[in-house]
Amino acid sequence: MTKPFIPLSVPNLKGNELAYVTHAVQTEWVSTGGPYIDEFEQKIADYVKSTGAVSCQSGTAGLHIALQVCGVTAQDEVIVPTLTFIAAVNPVKYLGADPIFMDCDDSLCLDPVKMKRFFEDECTFTNGKLINNETGRQIKAIVVVHVFGNMADMDKIMALSEDYNLPVIEDATEAIGSYYIKGRFQGQYAGTIGSMGVYSFNGNKIMTTGGGGMIVSQNEARLKRTKHLTTQAKSDELYYTHDEIGYNYRMTNLQAALGLAQLEQLETFIKTKTENFKRYQQALNTSDAFSLLEFDPSIRSNYWFYALMIDDQAGISRHELIQFLHQERIQARPIWDLIHEQPPYKGSQSYDIEKAPYYLNRIINIPCSSNLTREDVDRVIQALAGCINVKSSVRGG
Ligand SMILES: *Cc1c(COP(=O)(O)O)cnc(C)c1O
Repeated sequence: MTKPFIPLSVPNLKGNELAYVTHAVQTEWVSTGGPYIDEFEQKIADYVKSTGAVSCQSGTAGLHIALQVCGVTAQDEVIVPTLTFIAAVNPVKYLGADPIFMDCDDSLCLDPVKMKRFFEDECTFTNGKLINNETGRQIKAIVVVHVFGNMADMDKIMALSEDYNLPVIEDATEAIGSYYIKGRFQGQYAGTIGSMGVYSFNGNKIMTTGGGGMIVSQNEARLKRTKHLTTQAKSDELYYTHDEIGYNYRMTNLQAALGLAQLEQLETFIKTKTENFKRYQQALNTSDAFSLLEFDPSIRSNYWFYALMIDDQAGISRHELIQFLHQERIQARPIWDLIHEQPPYKGSQSYDIEKAPYYLNRIINIPCSSNLTREDVDRVIQALAGCINVKSSVRGG
């Protein structure tokens, strides 16, 4: 009998999803208007304690708008990480601006120490503007990504943002629910600390609307401009007057219906993910081949994705391990290829990147869905152990 397939990260829709979506259909509010949209925006804002929230079609769309609202134009450059999903960077190009790629630190998030060194050694700060010496262009913003539900070092990043007058856009697409439990930002959620934050509700994220996103900010004016841009920049509802180029980035009432039901369960999802992480971790504690990358102890993480580190002594490559797990019907995948090395970004500037390739070659992501059972976790653990045994017996014999 073939073993059931264990996917990496899939939706979990066992709450009020069907009831709310059914209500949307029965009332015939299925499109870009309807009561669930406003309610979902308000409930997200309440949950993350932001001044407001604007829903949109995807995390990518949200990042596009956030960059524009923060003043990024075609003349500008934007600081971005290289070790992340490419959707964190492409919106810089949508606006005609150019990215400057930074390395990660041991949290896999943007390294603020190196970024500081870049500002000090490679840039000039005059009249409140940070100018890149190499190009003579202004650096307008920083995009930080809270990778896998961890949080970037916001203490240091916000200090640099203040010193160099740079808005911070938090790509919190993977980190809804993560927040600081100590330090300067104690009690503050991923996405609400910088100028603007963006969440994604794609199907692989911790909560899903099928596809969708949310933009948050503590700044009323930025939220207002965000709503304006995501809704075709209509300045008169009756006469259809438009005062700038807008976008149709609106979420539908059907998506918001799903989102509301998912939000009701978010804390339960986080609880399950935390427990499963600890179960993996405990089993791997005794392994010399594998370990799980820890989350920052100064945060309450949402434990979205689990990063399995392969020790150099394990004698197995990430590719071999992924293939082995696939044979066991367990989905696993490598981290994203570095963005500064991908064809569209070959000519872009990057600064002292060394940790990102190190981690890239040693980490794979293993199943982490919120509907993963203990039995599933144990099967993955056994497969990992089996993989090492197979390898060593091959080498021994
Ligand atoms: C998922 C993700 C996005 C994009 O979100 P979509 O809703 O899929 O457009 C952006 N950045 C990162 C880091 C992501 O993981």
